[in-house]
Amino acid sequence: MIETKIKSTVRDVIDFPKPGIVFKDITPILKDPALCINITRELAEQLKGIEIDVVAGIESRGFLFGPALAQLLNVPFVPIRKVGKLPYKTVQQSYDLEYGKATIEVHEDALLKGQKVLIHDDLLATGGTVVAASKLIMQLGAEVTGYSFIIALDFLKGRLRLEPYTKQIFSLASY
Ligand code: 5GP
Repeated sequence: MIETKIKSTVRDVIDFPKPGIVFKDITPILKDPALCINITRELAEQLKGIEIDVVAGIESRGFLFGPALAQLLNVPFVPIRKVGKLPYKTVQQSYDLEYGKATIEVHEDALLKGQKVLIHDDLLATGGTVVAASKLIMQLGAEVTGYSFIIALDFLKGRLRLEPYTKQIFSLASY
C-alpha cells in the first residue's frame, strides 16, 4: 500500500526548522524512482472525476511532483512562488506564520478567468500556505477545484481551513 511505503520512506527530523517541530523530510522519496512514479500515478488516480484545467504547485516542494502530475493529467502547470522570484508582473497574497508574515505570488497572466485549478503541495500542515494560494487563484478570477498533497498532518486540522474553498481534499498518507 502506498501509504505504508511513503511512511516508511519519509524521514522525521527532530527540532527542524526550530525546537519542538518534527519535520517530515520527503527527500528520501526522491531517491526511489519507482516510488516517485507510483506517487504521481496515485495522486492522479485520486483526482479522477474532478474537472482540472491547471495544476498550481507551491514553492518549493510543490515543484517536485506538481509538474509530473500536471503532465500525467495533460494540463498546464503554474508555479506559485515566494515573493521576488517570478520575473514577470505578479499578484500577491500575504499570510501569517507562527512568527511574522510570508508572501507568495503568481504571474498575473498565469490563469484564465473561470479555469478550474488543482492546488498541489507536498504536505498540508496548518493550511495557511494553501489558503493564501487559493486567494491568489481567486484574485485572478479562476476557481479552486481541488487540493492534492502527498502527506496531510491531520492533527493540525488544516482540512477545516480548506473546506470553505472546496471539499475535494486528497492526500496519500496522513498522520
Ligand atoms: P502550512 O501552511 O499548511 O502550515 O504548511 C505547509 C507548508 O509548509 C508546505 O509548503 C510544506 O512544504 C511546508 N511544511 C510544513 N511542515 C512541513 C514538514 O513537516 N515537512 C515538509 N516536507 N514540509 C513542511
